[in-house]
Amino acid sequence: MSEHPFFFTWRAQRDAKPVQLLGGEGAWFETPDGRWLDLGSLIYQMNAGHGRGDIVSAVQAQAGRLCVSLPGAIYPEKTALAERLLGSAPEGFSKVFFTLGGSDANENALKMARLATGRFKTISRYRSYHGATMGAVGLTGDWRRRAVDPVLPGAVHVLEPDWVASSTDELTRIPEVMRREGGIGAVFAEPVVGANGVRIPPAGYFAALREACDEQGALLVADEVLTGFGRTGKMFAIEHFDGVVPDMITLGKAITAGYGTLGAVLVHERVASHFEEETLACGLTHYAHPLGVAAALAALDVYVSERLPERAAALEPLLLAGLASISEHLGDRVLRHRAIGLLGALDLDLTAQQWAKLPEGLAARRVHLHVNPRVGALVLAPPLCITEDELAIGLVKLTEAIEEATS
Ligand code: PLP
Repeated sequence: MSEHPFFFTWRAQRDAKPVQLLGGEGAWFETPDGRWLDLGSLIYQMNAGHGRGDIVSAVQAQAGRLCVSLPGAIYPEKTALAERLLGSAPEGFSKVFFTLGGSDANENALKMARLATGRFKTISRYRSYHGATMGAVGLTGDWRRRAVDPVLPGAVHVLEPDWVASSTDELTRIPEVMRREGGIGAVFAEPVVGANGVRIPPAGYFAALREACDEQGALLVADEVLTGFGRTGKMFAIEHFDGVVPDMITLGKAITAGYGTLGAVLVHERVASHFEEETLACGLTHYAHPLGVAAALAALDVYVSERLPERAAALEPLLLAGLASISEHLGDRVLRHRAIGLLGALDLDLTAQQWAKLPEGLAARRVHLHVNPRVGALVLAPPLCITEDELAIGLVKLTEAIEEATS
């Protein structure tokens, strides 16, 4: 049995290689054997960086003012956060449903879609992750659903846009499936597929999705749990695509910049109005927990005052150029690279043995680099406050680690 009295997630316990975290500063985190450059924002939540005393102080102050709440209670910070989130959403969004994280944001969006449309069928993509709870994992397309399927009756999965396929086929796939299936209540899509390898849809894809949803009476849910709060160079990634306005936006991770536990569903007036007369059969004990709310308000302050979405957009060319030079340097070991804002990926053509060696290369004393690997790809998502120099250092370290694994 493993020596630790708790489970590690998503793995056989004997394979766990835990890191001991001591703290951090900016784009770096500390472990007992030195500091690591964080090109993964831990698990995509540290958009404002490590060691944010300002966010920690806001949480401490909230703990002193009001530390607990009741789902039905009102308090000023809860209202302020809802107003600020709605203020940063596309026009027409009028209500927020608070959750504890990203999975239950999708879970509750799924329930709201069922309640509002009276339909239970959904469409989502194979290359997607929507969360670990039963409904959210049922929407998920990757191996994490297959591990527990069948879980969600009526969940239909389709392929996603692929830059190598003909874009016309890709654009028509979901509308076609929707027509043939009938009775689809909601389409769930990450505007840019995140952890499953950074898939950036072609122009026109989301416009076609929106049109098909309108035609078929289905709701469009943008899962921005990973892409929200500046990651792609805009506050929300959906803003990149065809001016499309979804019906719901689900949020988590960087909503608190990692400094609290919170998620949210932003709901457009056309869905929210349904629940004026009808019961919203959704609720959570820790709904709008004050500590999570305080962390989110402070994180939003940082995103705005430090212009972090704009910063991610400004650093995109540097990330792309770095990935291009890694591709050039490593030749056919890199299949493709791409980036949007500070979300990038390298598709690597490595043997299973080389993939297995990669984490050790990244952990090596002189490299000490954190990235989130996926089968076939490395996903890069540094804190949005990373400096140009740190990003350049990270890309050199990354090249060294890949070289080490493949030599
Ligand atoms: N949706 C997306 C796109 C995600 O990347 C994740 C987490 O990785 C989730 C939902 C689930 O969020 P959480 O782990 O906070 O429940």
